[in-house]
Amino acid sequence: EPSIIFDNVTFGYDDDRTILNGLSFEVPAGSTLAVVGPSGAGKSTIARLLFRFYDPGSGRILIDGQDIAQCQQDSVRASIGIVPQDSVLFNDTLAYNIAYGAEDADETTVEQAARDAALMPLIERLGDGFETMVGERGLKLSGGEKQRVAIARTLVKNPPILLLDEATSALDTRTEQEILGTLKRLARGRTTIAIAHRLSTVADADRIIVLDHGTLRESGTHSELLSRG
Ligand code: ADP
Ligand code: ADP
Repeated sequence: EPSIIFDNVTFGYDDDRTILNGLSFEVPAGSTLAVVGPSGAGKSTIARLLFRFYDPGSGRILIDGQDIAQCQQDSVRASIGIVPQDSVLFNDTLAYNIAYGAEDADETTVEQAARDAALMPLIERLGDGFETMVGERGLKLSGGEKQRVAIARTLVKNPPILLLDEATSALDTRTEQEILGTLKRLARGRTTIAIAHRLSTVADADRIIVLDHGTLRESGTHSELLSRG
């Protein structure tokens, strides 16, 4: 798994306003870093920079020691799987929706991937009884089931980096706990950045950074942050 480093990153969408202000943090290979902070703090901006929707104004972002601004955009993106808050599913089978994530890998078509038996072990790992649902159509699924499909779609390419952007914040508390458990299992063997609104949802992260107005306010483990109030 690769390490991720933000080294003194400054960024603004326009010249008027700085969104990230000299931000530095490190995600050791195979670990999970959570990014929490109020709405507008710049959390999703971190995700957008890592995925190279934008490049930093100054500073560097390193994946495995390589400045991603010097890398091919496609190769950076191929190494990162994103699970967003809301995913749009096709009104097609669950297998099709998951296989869609594999489409551009090695010119595999959705249809080929949907027939691919390799899909099943992943689907089985998503949770109890999920494999019996592969023929179900996307629009019938509950919020939690949809999010499992989104996770499977992201992981079908086996990305070494996992980027969770408020991946559970649209779910009710019980479903959120279930999906957090699934994500925890599936994050093993990957380097993960989990963006979250609430500290309680990232208690398992190896390290948490608290962002405020694009600046790192605090960092530590969940219990360290709680004990500091
Ligand atoms: P968070 O994810 O913490 O809620 P964001 O990273 O989405 O915050 O946004 C940080 C700030 O950047 C916000 O003030 C937001 O209004 C601004 N912002 C986000 N996207 C854009 C954009 N495309 N153009 C200009 N400003 C943006
Ligand atoms: P979230 O990160 O909460 O899922 P977004 O990233 O879409 O949502 O937007 C985060 C914040 O950035 C919101 O407050 C939104 O209004 C603001 N924002 C998004 N795009 C722009 C933009 N192009 N210009 C200004 N503000 C934006």
